[in-house]
Amino acid sequence: MRESDAIVHPILARCGVAHGFGTRTSKPPSGTFLPRQVHGVAVHHLSVDAVAVGAIGDVEADAICTSTPGQTIGIITADCVPILVCNESGQAVLAVHAGWRGLAQGVIEAGIASLIDQSPASEKLCAVVGPHVGPCCYEVDAPVLDAMTLRFGEAAVKGASTATRPGHARLALGKLALLALERSGVDEPFRAALDDACTSCSGSQFHSYRRDGEAAGRMVHFIATSCR
Ligand SMILES: [Zn+2]
Repeated sequence: MRESDAIVHPILARCGVAHGFGTRTSKPPSGTFLPRQVHGVAVHHLSVDAVAVGAIGDVEADAICTSTPGQTIGIITADCVPILVCNESGQAVLAVHAGWRGLAQGVIEAGIASLIDQSPASEKLCAVVGPHVGPCCYEVDAPVLDAMTLRFGEAAVKGASTATRPGHARLALGKLALLALERSGVDEPFRAALDDACTSCSGSQFHSYRRDGEAAGRMVHFIATSCR
């Protein structure tokens, strides 16, 4: 297991932040702070003060942000969508875990709002959507489609899905994550998604809950504020 096996992206790299999307063989840096994920919309702000006094503790959240210099934060997934975000100076960072429940409830929008609070208004935000189960391997039923339609609108959900059996469709979670970023004010060309990164198709590179069930491993995705 090596840090260097994690996947980096130029949009984040040019901001000077250490980061990586996890793979089967990657591991996060030591000291990476991970929240306890509950498929909700809570955002945890890991403050300078909490780090300074060692009062990091155990928190429930699906988005975590910090502007503490040199602090690494992360989230864990097997098929859900990981999103890593920073501001242009790399001094504020955010990691989001978004399954369909989180997407429907607005976890990305909530995370971006918290990052905006910690970043100078003059700085752009840069965001990348990481490896997750692709539409090729993700058929959902009407309750999921209904929840997505409430959040994103019928046209957007139709555009991100392909009908299969009655009441079912293959859904592109990554497209909806990019739309949530766009609506939160993360502009082109400062947002992107990794290409060809279906966790279920790419068994040699990624863990997948859909493919492997309860035995599936997990990937850790991390990002750290710059020390500048
Ligand atoms: Zn696939």
